[in-house]
Amino acid sequence: MSPDIPFPSYLEQKRQLTQWKKDNLWYKEVHSQVTQDVVKRLHNTWEAFKARGFGFPRFKKYGSYQSFLFPQFRENPIKKNIIKLPKIGEVVINQHRPIPEGFKVKGVRIVARARGTIWYAIVTIRCDISVPEPVPFGRGIGIDIGLESFLVTSDNFRVEPALFFRELQSRLKVLQRRASRKNKRSKNWEKAQQKVARLHHKINNARKNFHFQTSHQLCDQLRSSGDSLADMIFVEDIDFRVSAKGFLGKQMLDGGFGQFRDLLSWVCWKRGKYFAQVDHKYTSQICPECGTHTGKKELSERVHICPECGYKTSRDHASGRVILERGLKSVVPMDCRERKLSGNGVLSGVLYLDKCRSRNANSRDLEARANPTDERRERSLRDFTSSQRKVTRTSRERRSRLYL
Ligand SMILES: [Zn+2]
Repeated sequence: MSPDIPFPSYLEQKRQLTQWKKDNLWYKEVHSQVTQDVVKRLHNTWEAFKARGFGFPRFKKYGSYQSFLFPQFRENPIKKNIIKLPKIGEVVINQHRPIPEGFKVKGVRIVARARGTIWYAIVTIRCDISVPEPVPFGRGIGIDIGLESFLVTSDNFRVEPALFFRELQSRLKVLQRRASRKNKRSKNWEKAQQKVARLHHKINNARKNFHFQTSHQLCDQLRSSGDSLADMIFVEDIDFRVSAKGFLGKQMLDGGFGQFRDLLSWVCWKRGKYFAQVDHKYTSQICPECGTHTGKKELSERVHICPECGYKTSRDHASGRVILERGLKSVVPMDCRERKLSGNGVLSGVLYLDKCRSRNANSRDLEARANPTDERRERSLRDFTSSQRKVTRTSRERRSRLYL
C-alpha cells in the first residue's frame, strides 16, 4: 500500500461498502445498516486506541464477534412474541417486558452468549422528554462493600454475601475436566465446551440478578431505621481489581463488586436517587464518632474500637459511616452544615436552603445544586432501554416540584 494514501476515515470506509458488495456477493446477505455498524465499531475501536495509546485492536476470530446491531426501524418490529428483523425474517422471542406507551423502538442489538447457544435481542426504545439529574437531598446512606458481609450501610443494615461461583464451582470443575479430555475441535469437544459456557452464563446471571435486587433494596427501604427511604447513596471509589489479585481473589471476583457499583449507580439514576463515589482512603482507619486516625487494622480485626472516644462498632459499619460523612461533605459546603448533621445523616433540604440563602459564601453553589431547573440538562433524545423509567420520571418530577 502506498504511503501517500490518506488514512481511511469512517465515511470513506462506509462508502467502500457498496463496492465490496459488488465484488463479494455474499456481503449482500447481510443488511446494509448492520455492515455499516461493523465499520463504525472498527472506527470507534481505532479512535479509542489512538486516544489511549496502547492496546492495538485485534482481529476477531470466528465466534468472538458476539453481537450486531440493527440501528433503525420504521415501525415496531415486535408483534406478540415475534420479532421481525430485516434480511433474517420473523423470529420467535420470549419478551421480558412490554414496550411502554409513548416509546418508539430505536434499534435492536442481537447478542450471542454461551458460545452461540443463547441469543438475546436487546431493544433500545426512545421517548422525547427531558429528565433532570437526581439532586442531593434528604436522607443519605454510606455503603461499605466487603467480603464478610456483602455490604454494610451507615445504619448497620447488612446484606449477606451470596457466593454464586463457589456454589457451582464443583459442577464447573467436572464439566471442565470432561471438556479437556475430548479431542480438541471435535464435535464432542464443542458440546462439552458449550456446557461449560452455559454454566458460566448461569453463574453470571444469578450474580447480576442479586446485584439488581440488592440495589433496589437499598433504594427502597432500610430495615433498621423503619420506614425511611434512602435519597442519597454514597460508596467508596476503590479499585476492586487490585484486591482481586490478592489471596482472597476468588472471593472478590465472585462478589462482582465493580459490577454492583455500576448497577447501583444506574438503579439510583432510574429511581431518582442521588449517587456519588467518595475517596476510599483510610475509611477503615478513621473513627466516625470523633474523627481520630486509629491506625491500620489487620484484615482479621473486625471490630472498631476508638482509643480516643471509646466508640465501639463493627469495622464495616464504622467505614460505612465515614463514607456517608465524606459523601455529605462533598454534597454540601461546610458552612451550610450543622456540626452534628452527619450523626443521623439527614439533609433537611428546604430548611437548610433558607439558612444558606441568608449567607453569602457558597450559597449560590448549593442553590444551584438543589434547584433541578438550573441544573436540568437537556436529556431529550436520550435512549431508553427500560420500560420502568417512565414511572421513575413522574416520581422524580413530583419530587423536584417539591423543591422548586
Ligand atoms: Zn473516636
